[in-house]
Amino acid sequence: MIVQQTYEIKEEFDFLKRTRVEFAEALQFVNSQVRSVDRGFTKVLEQPFRQSVVRFPLLMDDGSIETFTGFRVQHSRLCEPTKGGIRYAPDVDLDLVTALAFDMTLKCRVVNIPFGGAKGGVCCDPKKMSRAELDRLTRRYTYEIMHLIGPDSDVPAPDVGTGEREMGIVYDTYRMFNPRCTCASAVVTGKPLNLGGSPGRDQATAQGGIYVLEEAVKRNHVKNMTSLKAATVIVQGFGNAGYNAAKILNDEYGCKIVGISDSKGGIYCQDGLPPEEILVHKNKKSTERSVVGYRDLRGLGPKEYLTKPCDILIPAAKETQITGEISKDIRARVILDLANGPTTNLAHTILFGKGIHVIPDILANAGGVTVSYFEWLQNRAGENWELSMVKEKLRKKMVTAYTNVVETAVKYNLDLRKAAFVFAIRKSLDILLGRGVFP
Ligand code: NAD
Repeated sequence: MIVQQTYEIKEEFDFLKRTRVEFAEALQFVNSQVRSVDRGFTKVLEQPFRQSVVRFPLLMDDGSIETFTGFRVQHSRLCEPTKGGIRYAPDVDLDLVTALAFDMTLKCRVVNIPFGGAKGGVCCDPKKMSRAELDRLTRRYTYEIMHLIGPDSDVPAPDVGTGEREMGIVYDTYRMFNPRCTCASAVVTGKPLNLGGSPGRDQATAQGGIYVLEEAVKRNHVKNMTSLKAATVIVQGFGNAGYNAAKILNDEYGCKIVGISDSKGGIYCQDGLPPEEILVHKNKKSTERSVVGYRDLRGLGPKEYLTKPCDILIPAAKETQITGEISKDIRARVILDLANGPTTNLAHTILFGKGIHVIPDILANAGGVTVSYFEWLQNRAGENWELSMVKEKLRKKMVTAYTNVVETAVKYNLDLRKAAFVFAIRKSLDILLGRGVFP
């Protein structure tokens, strides 16, 4: 007889609502078990400090004019500048950007970086726009949020749908309006190297996550896994985070990448898939611009490719992908949440119950903001660090963050996600109480 396990948890599919639920639960825990803090202080952390919505016209290549909506949310000014990426995607709205800004506040506390949380974005479909249209969109959006951003106030970075080209344009636009600013390049991170970008920023999110994964395996925190060598990997999402994770694990750790997917579907091959060759296939003009179609492998839907056997599963696409339903069939030993918010609250509970080691997003993908911090420091000091130095410092930050979260988990008997939230909230409250209330 098959016994269906039931869970009391209500699965929350909305990312902002889920972040608020998880935050409230962790806050309650901190209040009862760690330190009791005046409700007035904790309320400051619950809502974003500032939410900006801008609507602006854009001249399209065919001569028509379209209106776009952009957002910039600064979640907390615990530390300044605030920091967070810019996302271009059709589903960008105020709630999504607010949830992502909330996560940034927590993430900066987990890796102990002196930034507050922010996020921005424009509701658009970059795949349907020309290069020239995207460049004009970036200039106009930067102009509309110019009064908010600055090296000391709020520093954007890349996220889904944006990359170093957009960051170069953000810098240039800011520079044109602030000619006397002595460290204007520190207004944005993730820039091209010749504009003050940092070596290693492109790979930072993936590399930071891999340092944590390596540490988890080294400390025997992953059941029946003693080494990354020959471990099998499935990666969801083949952009900055996903592609770099696949490439580093394949080239430098001897892992076998058995599954890769993007927004059009996934492919799976037990013999292994070469990340670089698949990227070439994806970028070919003659193809669908997808990993699907590579060597005629059958295209798979998310339920199918996420539940294929593997040692390491890396969601690196977008929020709310690993649901309760899918997680029941997941066969990985460890999950590295490189995307923001990929795993629902119910999925977390199910995966934890199955003994799968889940490394949560606010820890796993914090390498991106960490190297952004290094870039900001270099720009302010007029320095250029070697890649080896960036990697060394990144590894140190990520291993320390993992150690802190694991210690919190052990001390209070929590799973890693709850422990990361509890650790971040405790650190945020320390800063709030230390600063006091102005005036
Ligand atoms: P990207 O735009 O470079 O790549 C996103 C990839 O995901 C693309 O390959 C796209 O086709 C794929 N994708 C989209 N929807 C999908 C779906 N439903 N199923 C499978 N694949 C899908 O974006 P990125 O910068 O790699 O960001 C990916 C995730 O990592 C996001 O959640 C982002 O917030 C997070 N993140 C990125 C950074 C960074 O530095 N880039 C830092 C921290 C967190």
